Amino acid sequence: MLRHALLAASHSRAARKVVRSAPGTRGLVRRFVAGETIDDALLATRDIAGQGLLVSLDALGEDTLDSDQAAANVDHYAELLGRLGTGGLADRAEVSLKLSAVGQALDEDLALENARRVCAAAKEANTTVTLDMEQYETVDSTLRVVAELRREYPETGVAIQSYLRRSEEYCAELAHSGSRVRLCKGAYSAPESVAFTSGVEIDKSFVRCMRVLMAGQGYPMIATHDPRLIEIGGALASLHDRDPSGYEYQMLYGIRPQEQRRLAGEGARVRVYVAFGREWYGYFMRRLAEKPSHLGFLFRSIATKS
Ligand SMILES: Cc1cc2nc3c(=O)[nH]c(=O)nc-3n(C[C@H](O)[C@H](O)[C@H](O)COP(=O)(O)OP(=O)(O)OC[C@H]3O[C@@H](n4cnc5c(N)ncnc54)[C@H](O)[C@@H]3O)c2cc1C
Repeated sequence: MLRHALLAASHSRAARKVVRSAPGTRGLVRRFVAGETIDDALLATRDIAGQGLLVSLDALGEDTLDSDQAAANVDHYAELLGRLGTGGLADRAEVSLKLSAVGQALDEDLALENARRVCAAAKEANTTVTLDMEQYETVDSTLRVVAELRREYPETGVAIQSYLRRSEEYCAELAHSGSRVRLCKGAYSAPESVAFTSGVEIDKSFVRCMRVLMAGQGYPMIATHDPRLIEIGGALASLHDRDPSGYEYQMLYGIRPQEQRRLAGEGARVRVYVAFGREWYGYFMRRLAEKPSHLGFLFRSIATKS
């Protein structure tokens, strides 16, 4: 219930205004967001890479309804990728891209062209792009776009959300050689007709998807902080004789950092998803929805203002 309210608020302009202007919000935001600028993102990347971890950078900005803004977002990614290359960080860091940031809501072809430009900049820098998965209404479009991108940039990854009833089917289609698939539970709201809504069902689906990905020929990226799923992922990798370079774990910046280092210390590949930028509102609200206990702090901060 609370999760749905928070996810609904993540699209509300009124809620956005209140949350963004509350005096204490920024402290909590900084727990999940690595700063506002490319310099901030590179600083965080260096720090994380220095701990033996990998990075995927998300230049925040989503739900773009203006083609000029979409183009500006592409330029921002191109600059980021250029600086990863010149800064010698491209072997440790890739980027994550939301198609909604580059015009998916305006026109799928526009988003494809824009994503192509980001992939070209990534290739030039010697790194890769993974497409985030967003609201369930965009899944078919995102899968079409990634299939197109992979003709020219076969290293392009995509996220699949285990809360979708069709997730196992998507994984089966994507579990081929060279295919990078990030498996996550899913951070948006979706109706029961298309998505599992109970935590147990979502977790069972996650395990089924991991089985398919680990048994397949691609490169599974297990994106969860859930200790049980991390353990099952490791067991499935061993069962299928995958060595540690044949898959990776992924976690979000600011969440379970000790566990990230513990897994890396055991020899696993661990990638930290680092979001940065001024457009942190939607991303931040989804993090609150995952852990509503953070809310007390936010409410106190809003109350302080009024
Ligand atoms: C690298 C990465 C990329 C992602 N990409 C996408 C994507 O493209 N599309 C998409 O829909 N979703 C994406 N997600 C989000 C994902 O779908 C989940 O919403 C999120 O990861 C929480 O689920 P969980 O698997 O960690 O399990 P949960 O059951 O939610 O959490 C397990 C445990 O992790 C800790 N935890 C989880 N979330 C938080 C939090 N916000 N604050 C503090 N502790 C927390 C808690 O200890 C919790 O008990 C991504 C997640 C990761 C890690």
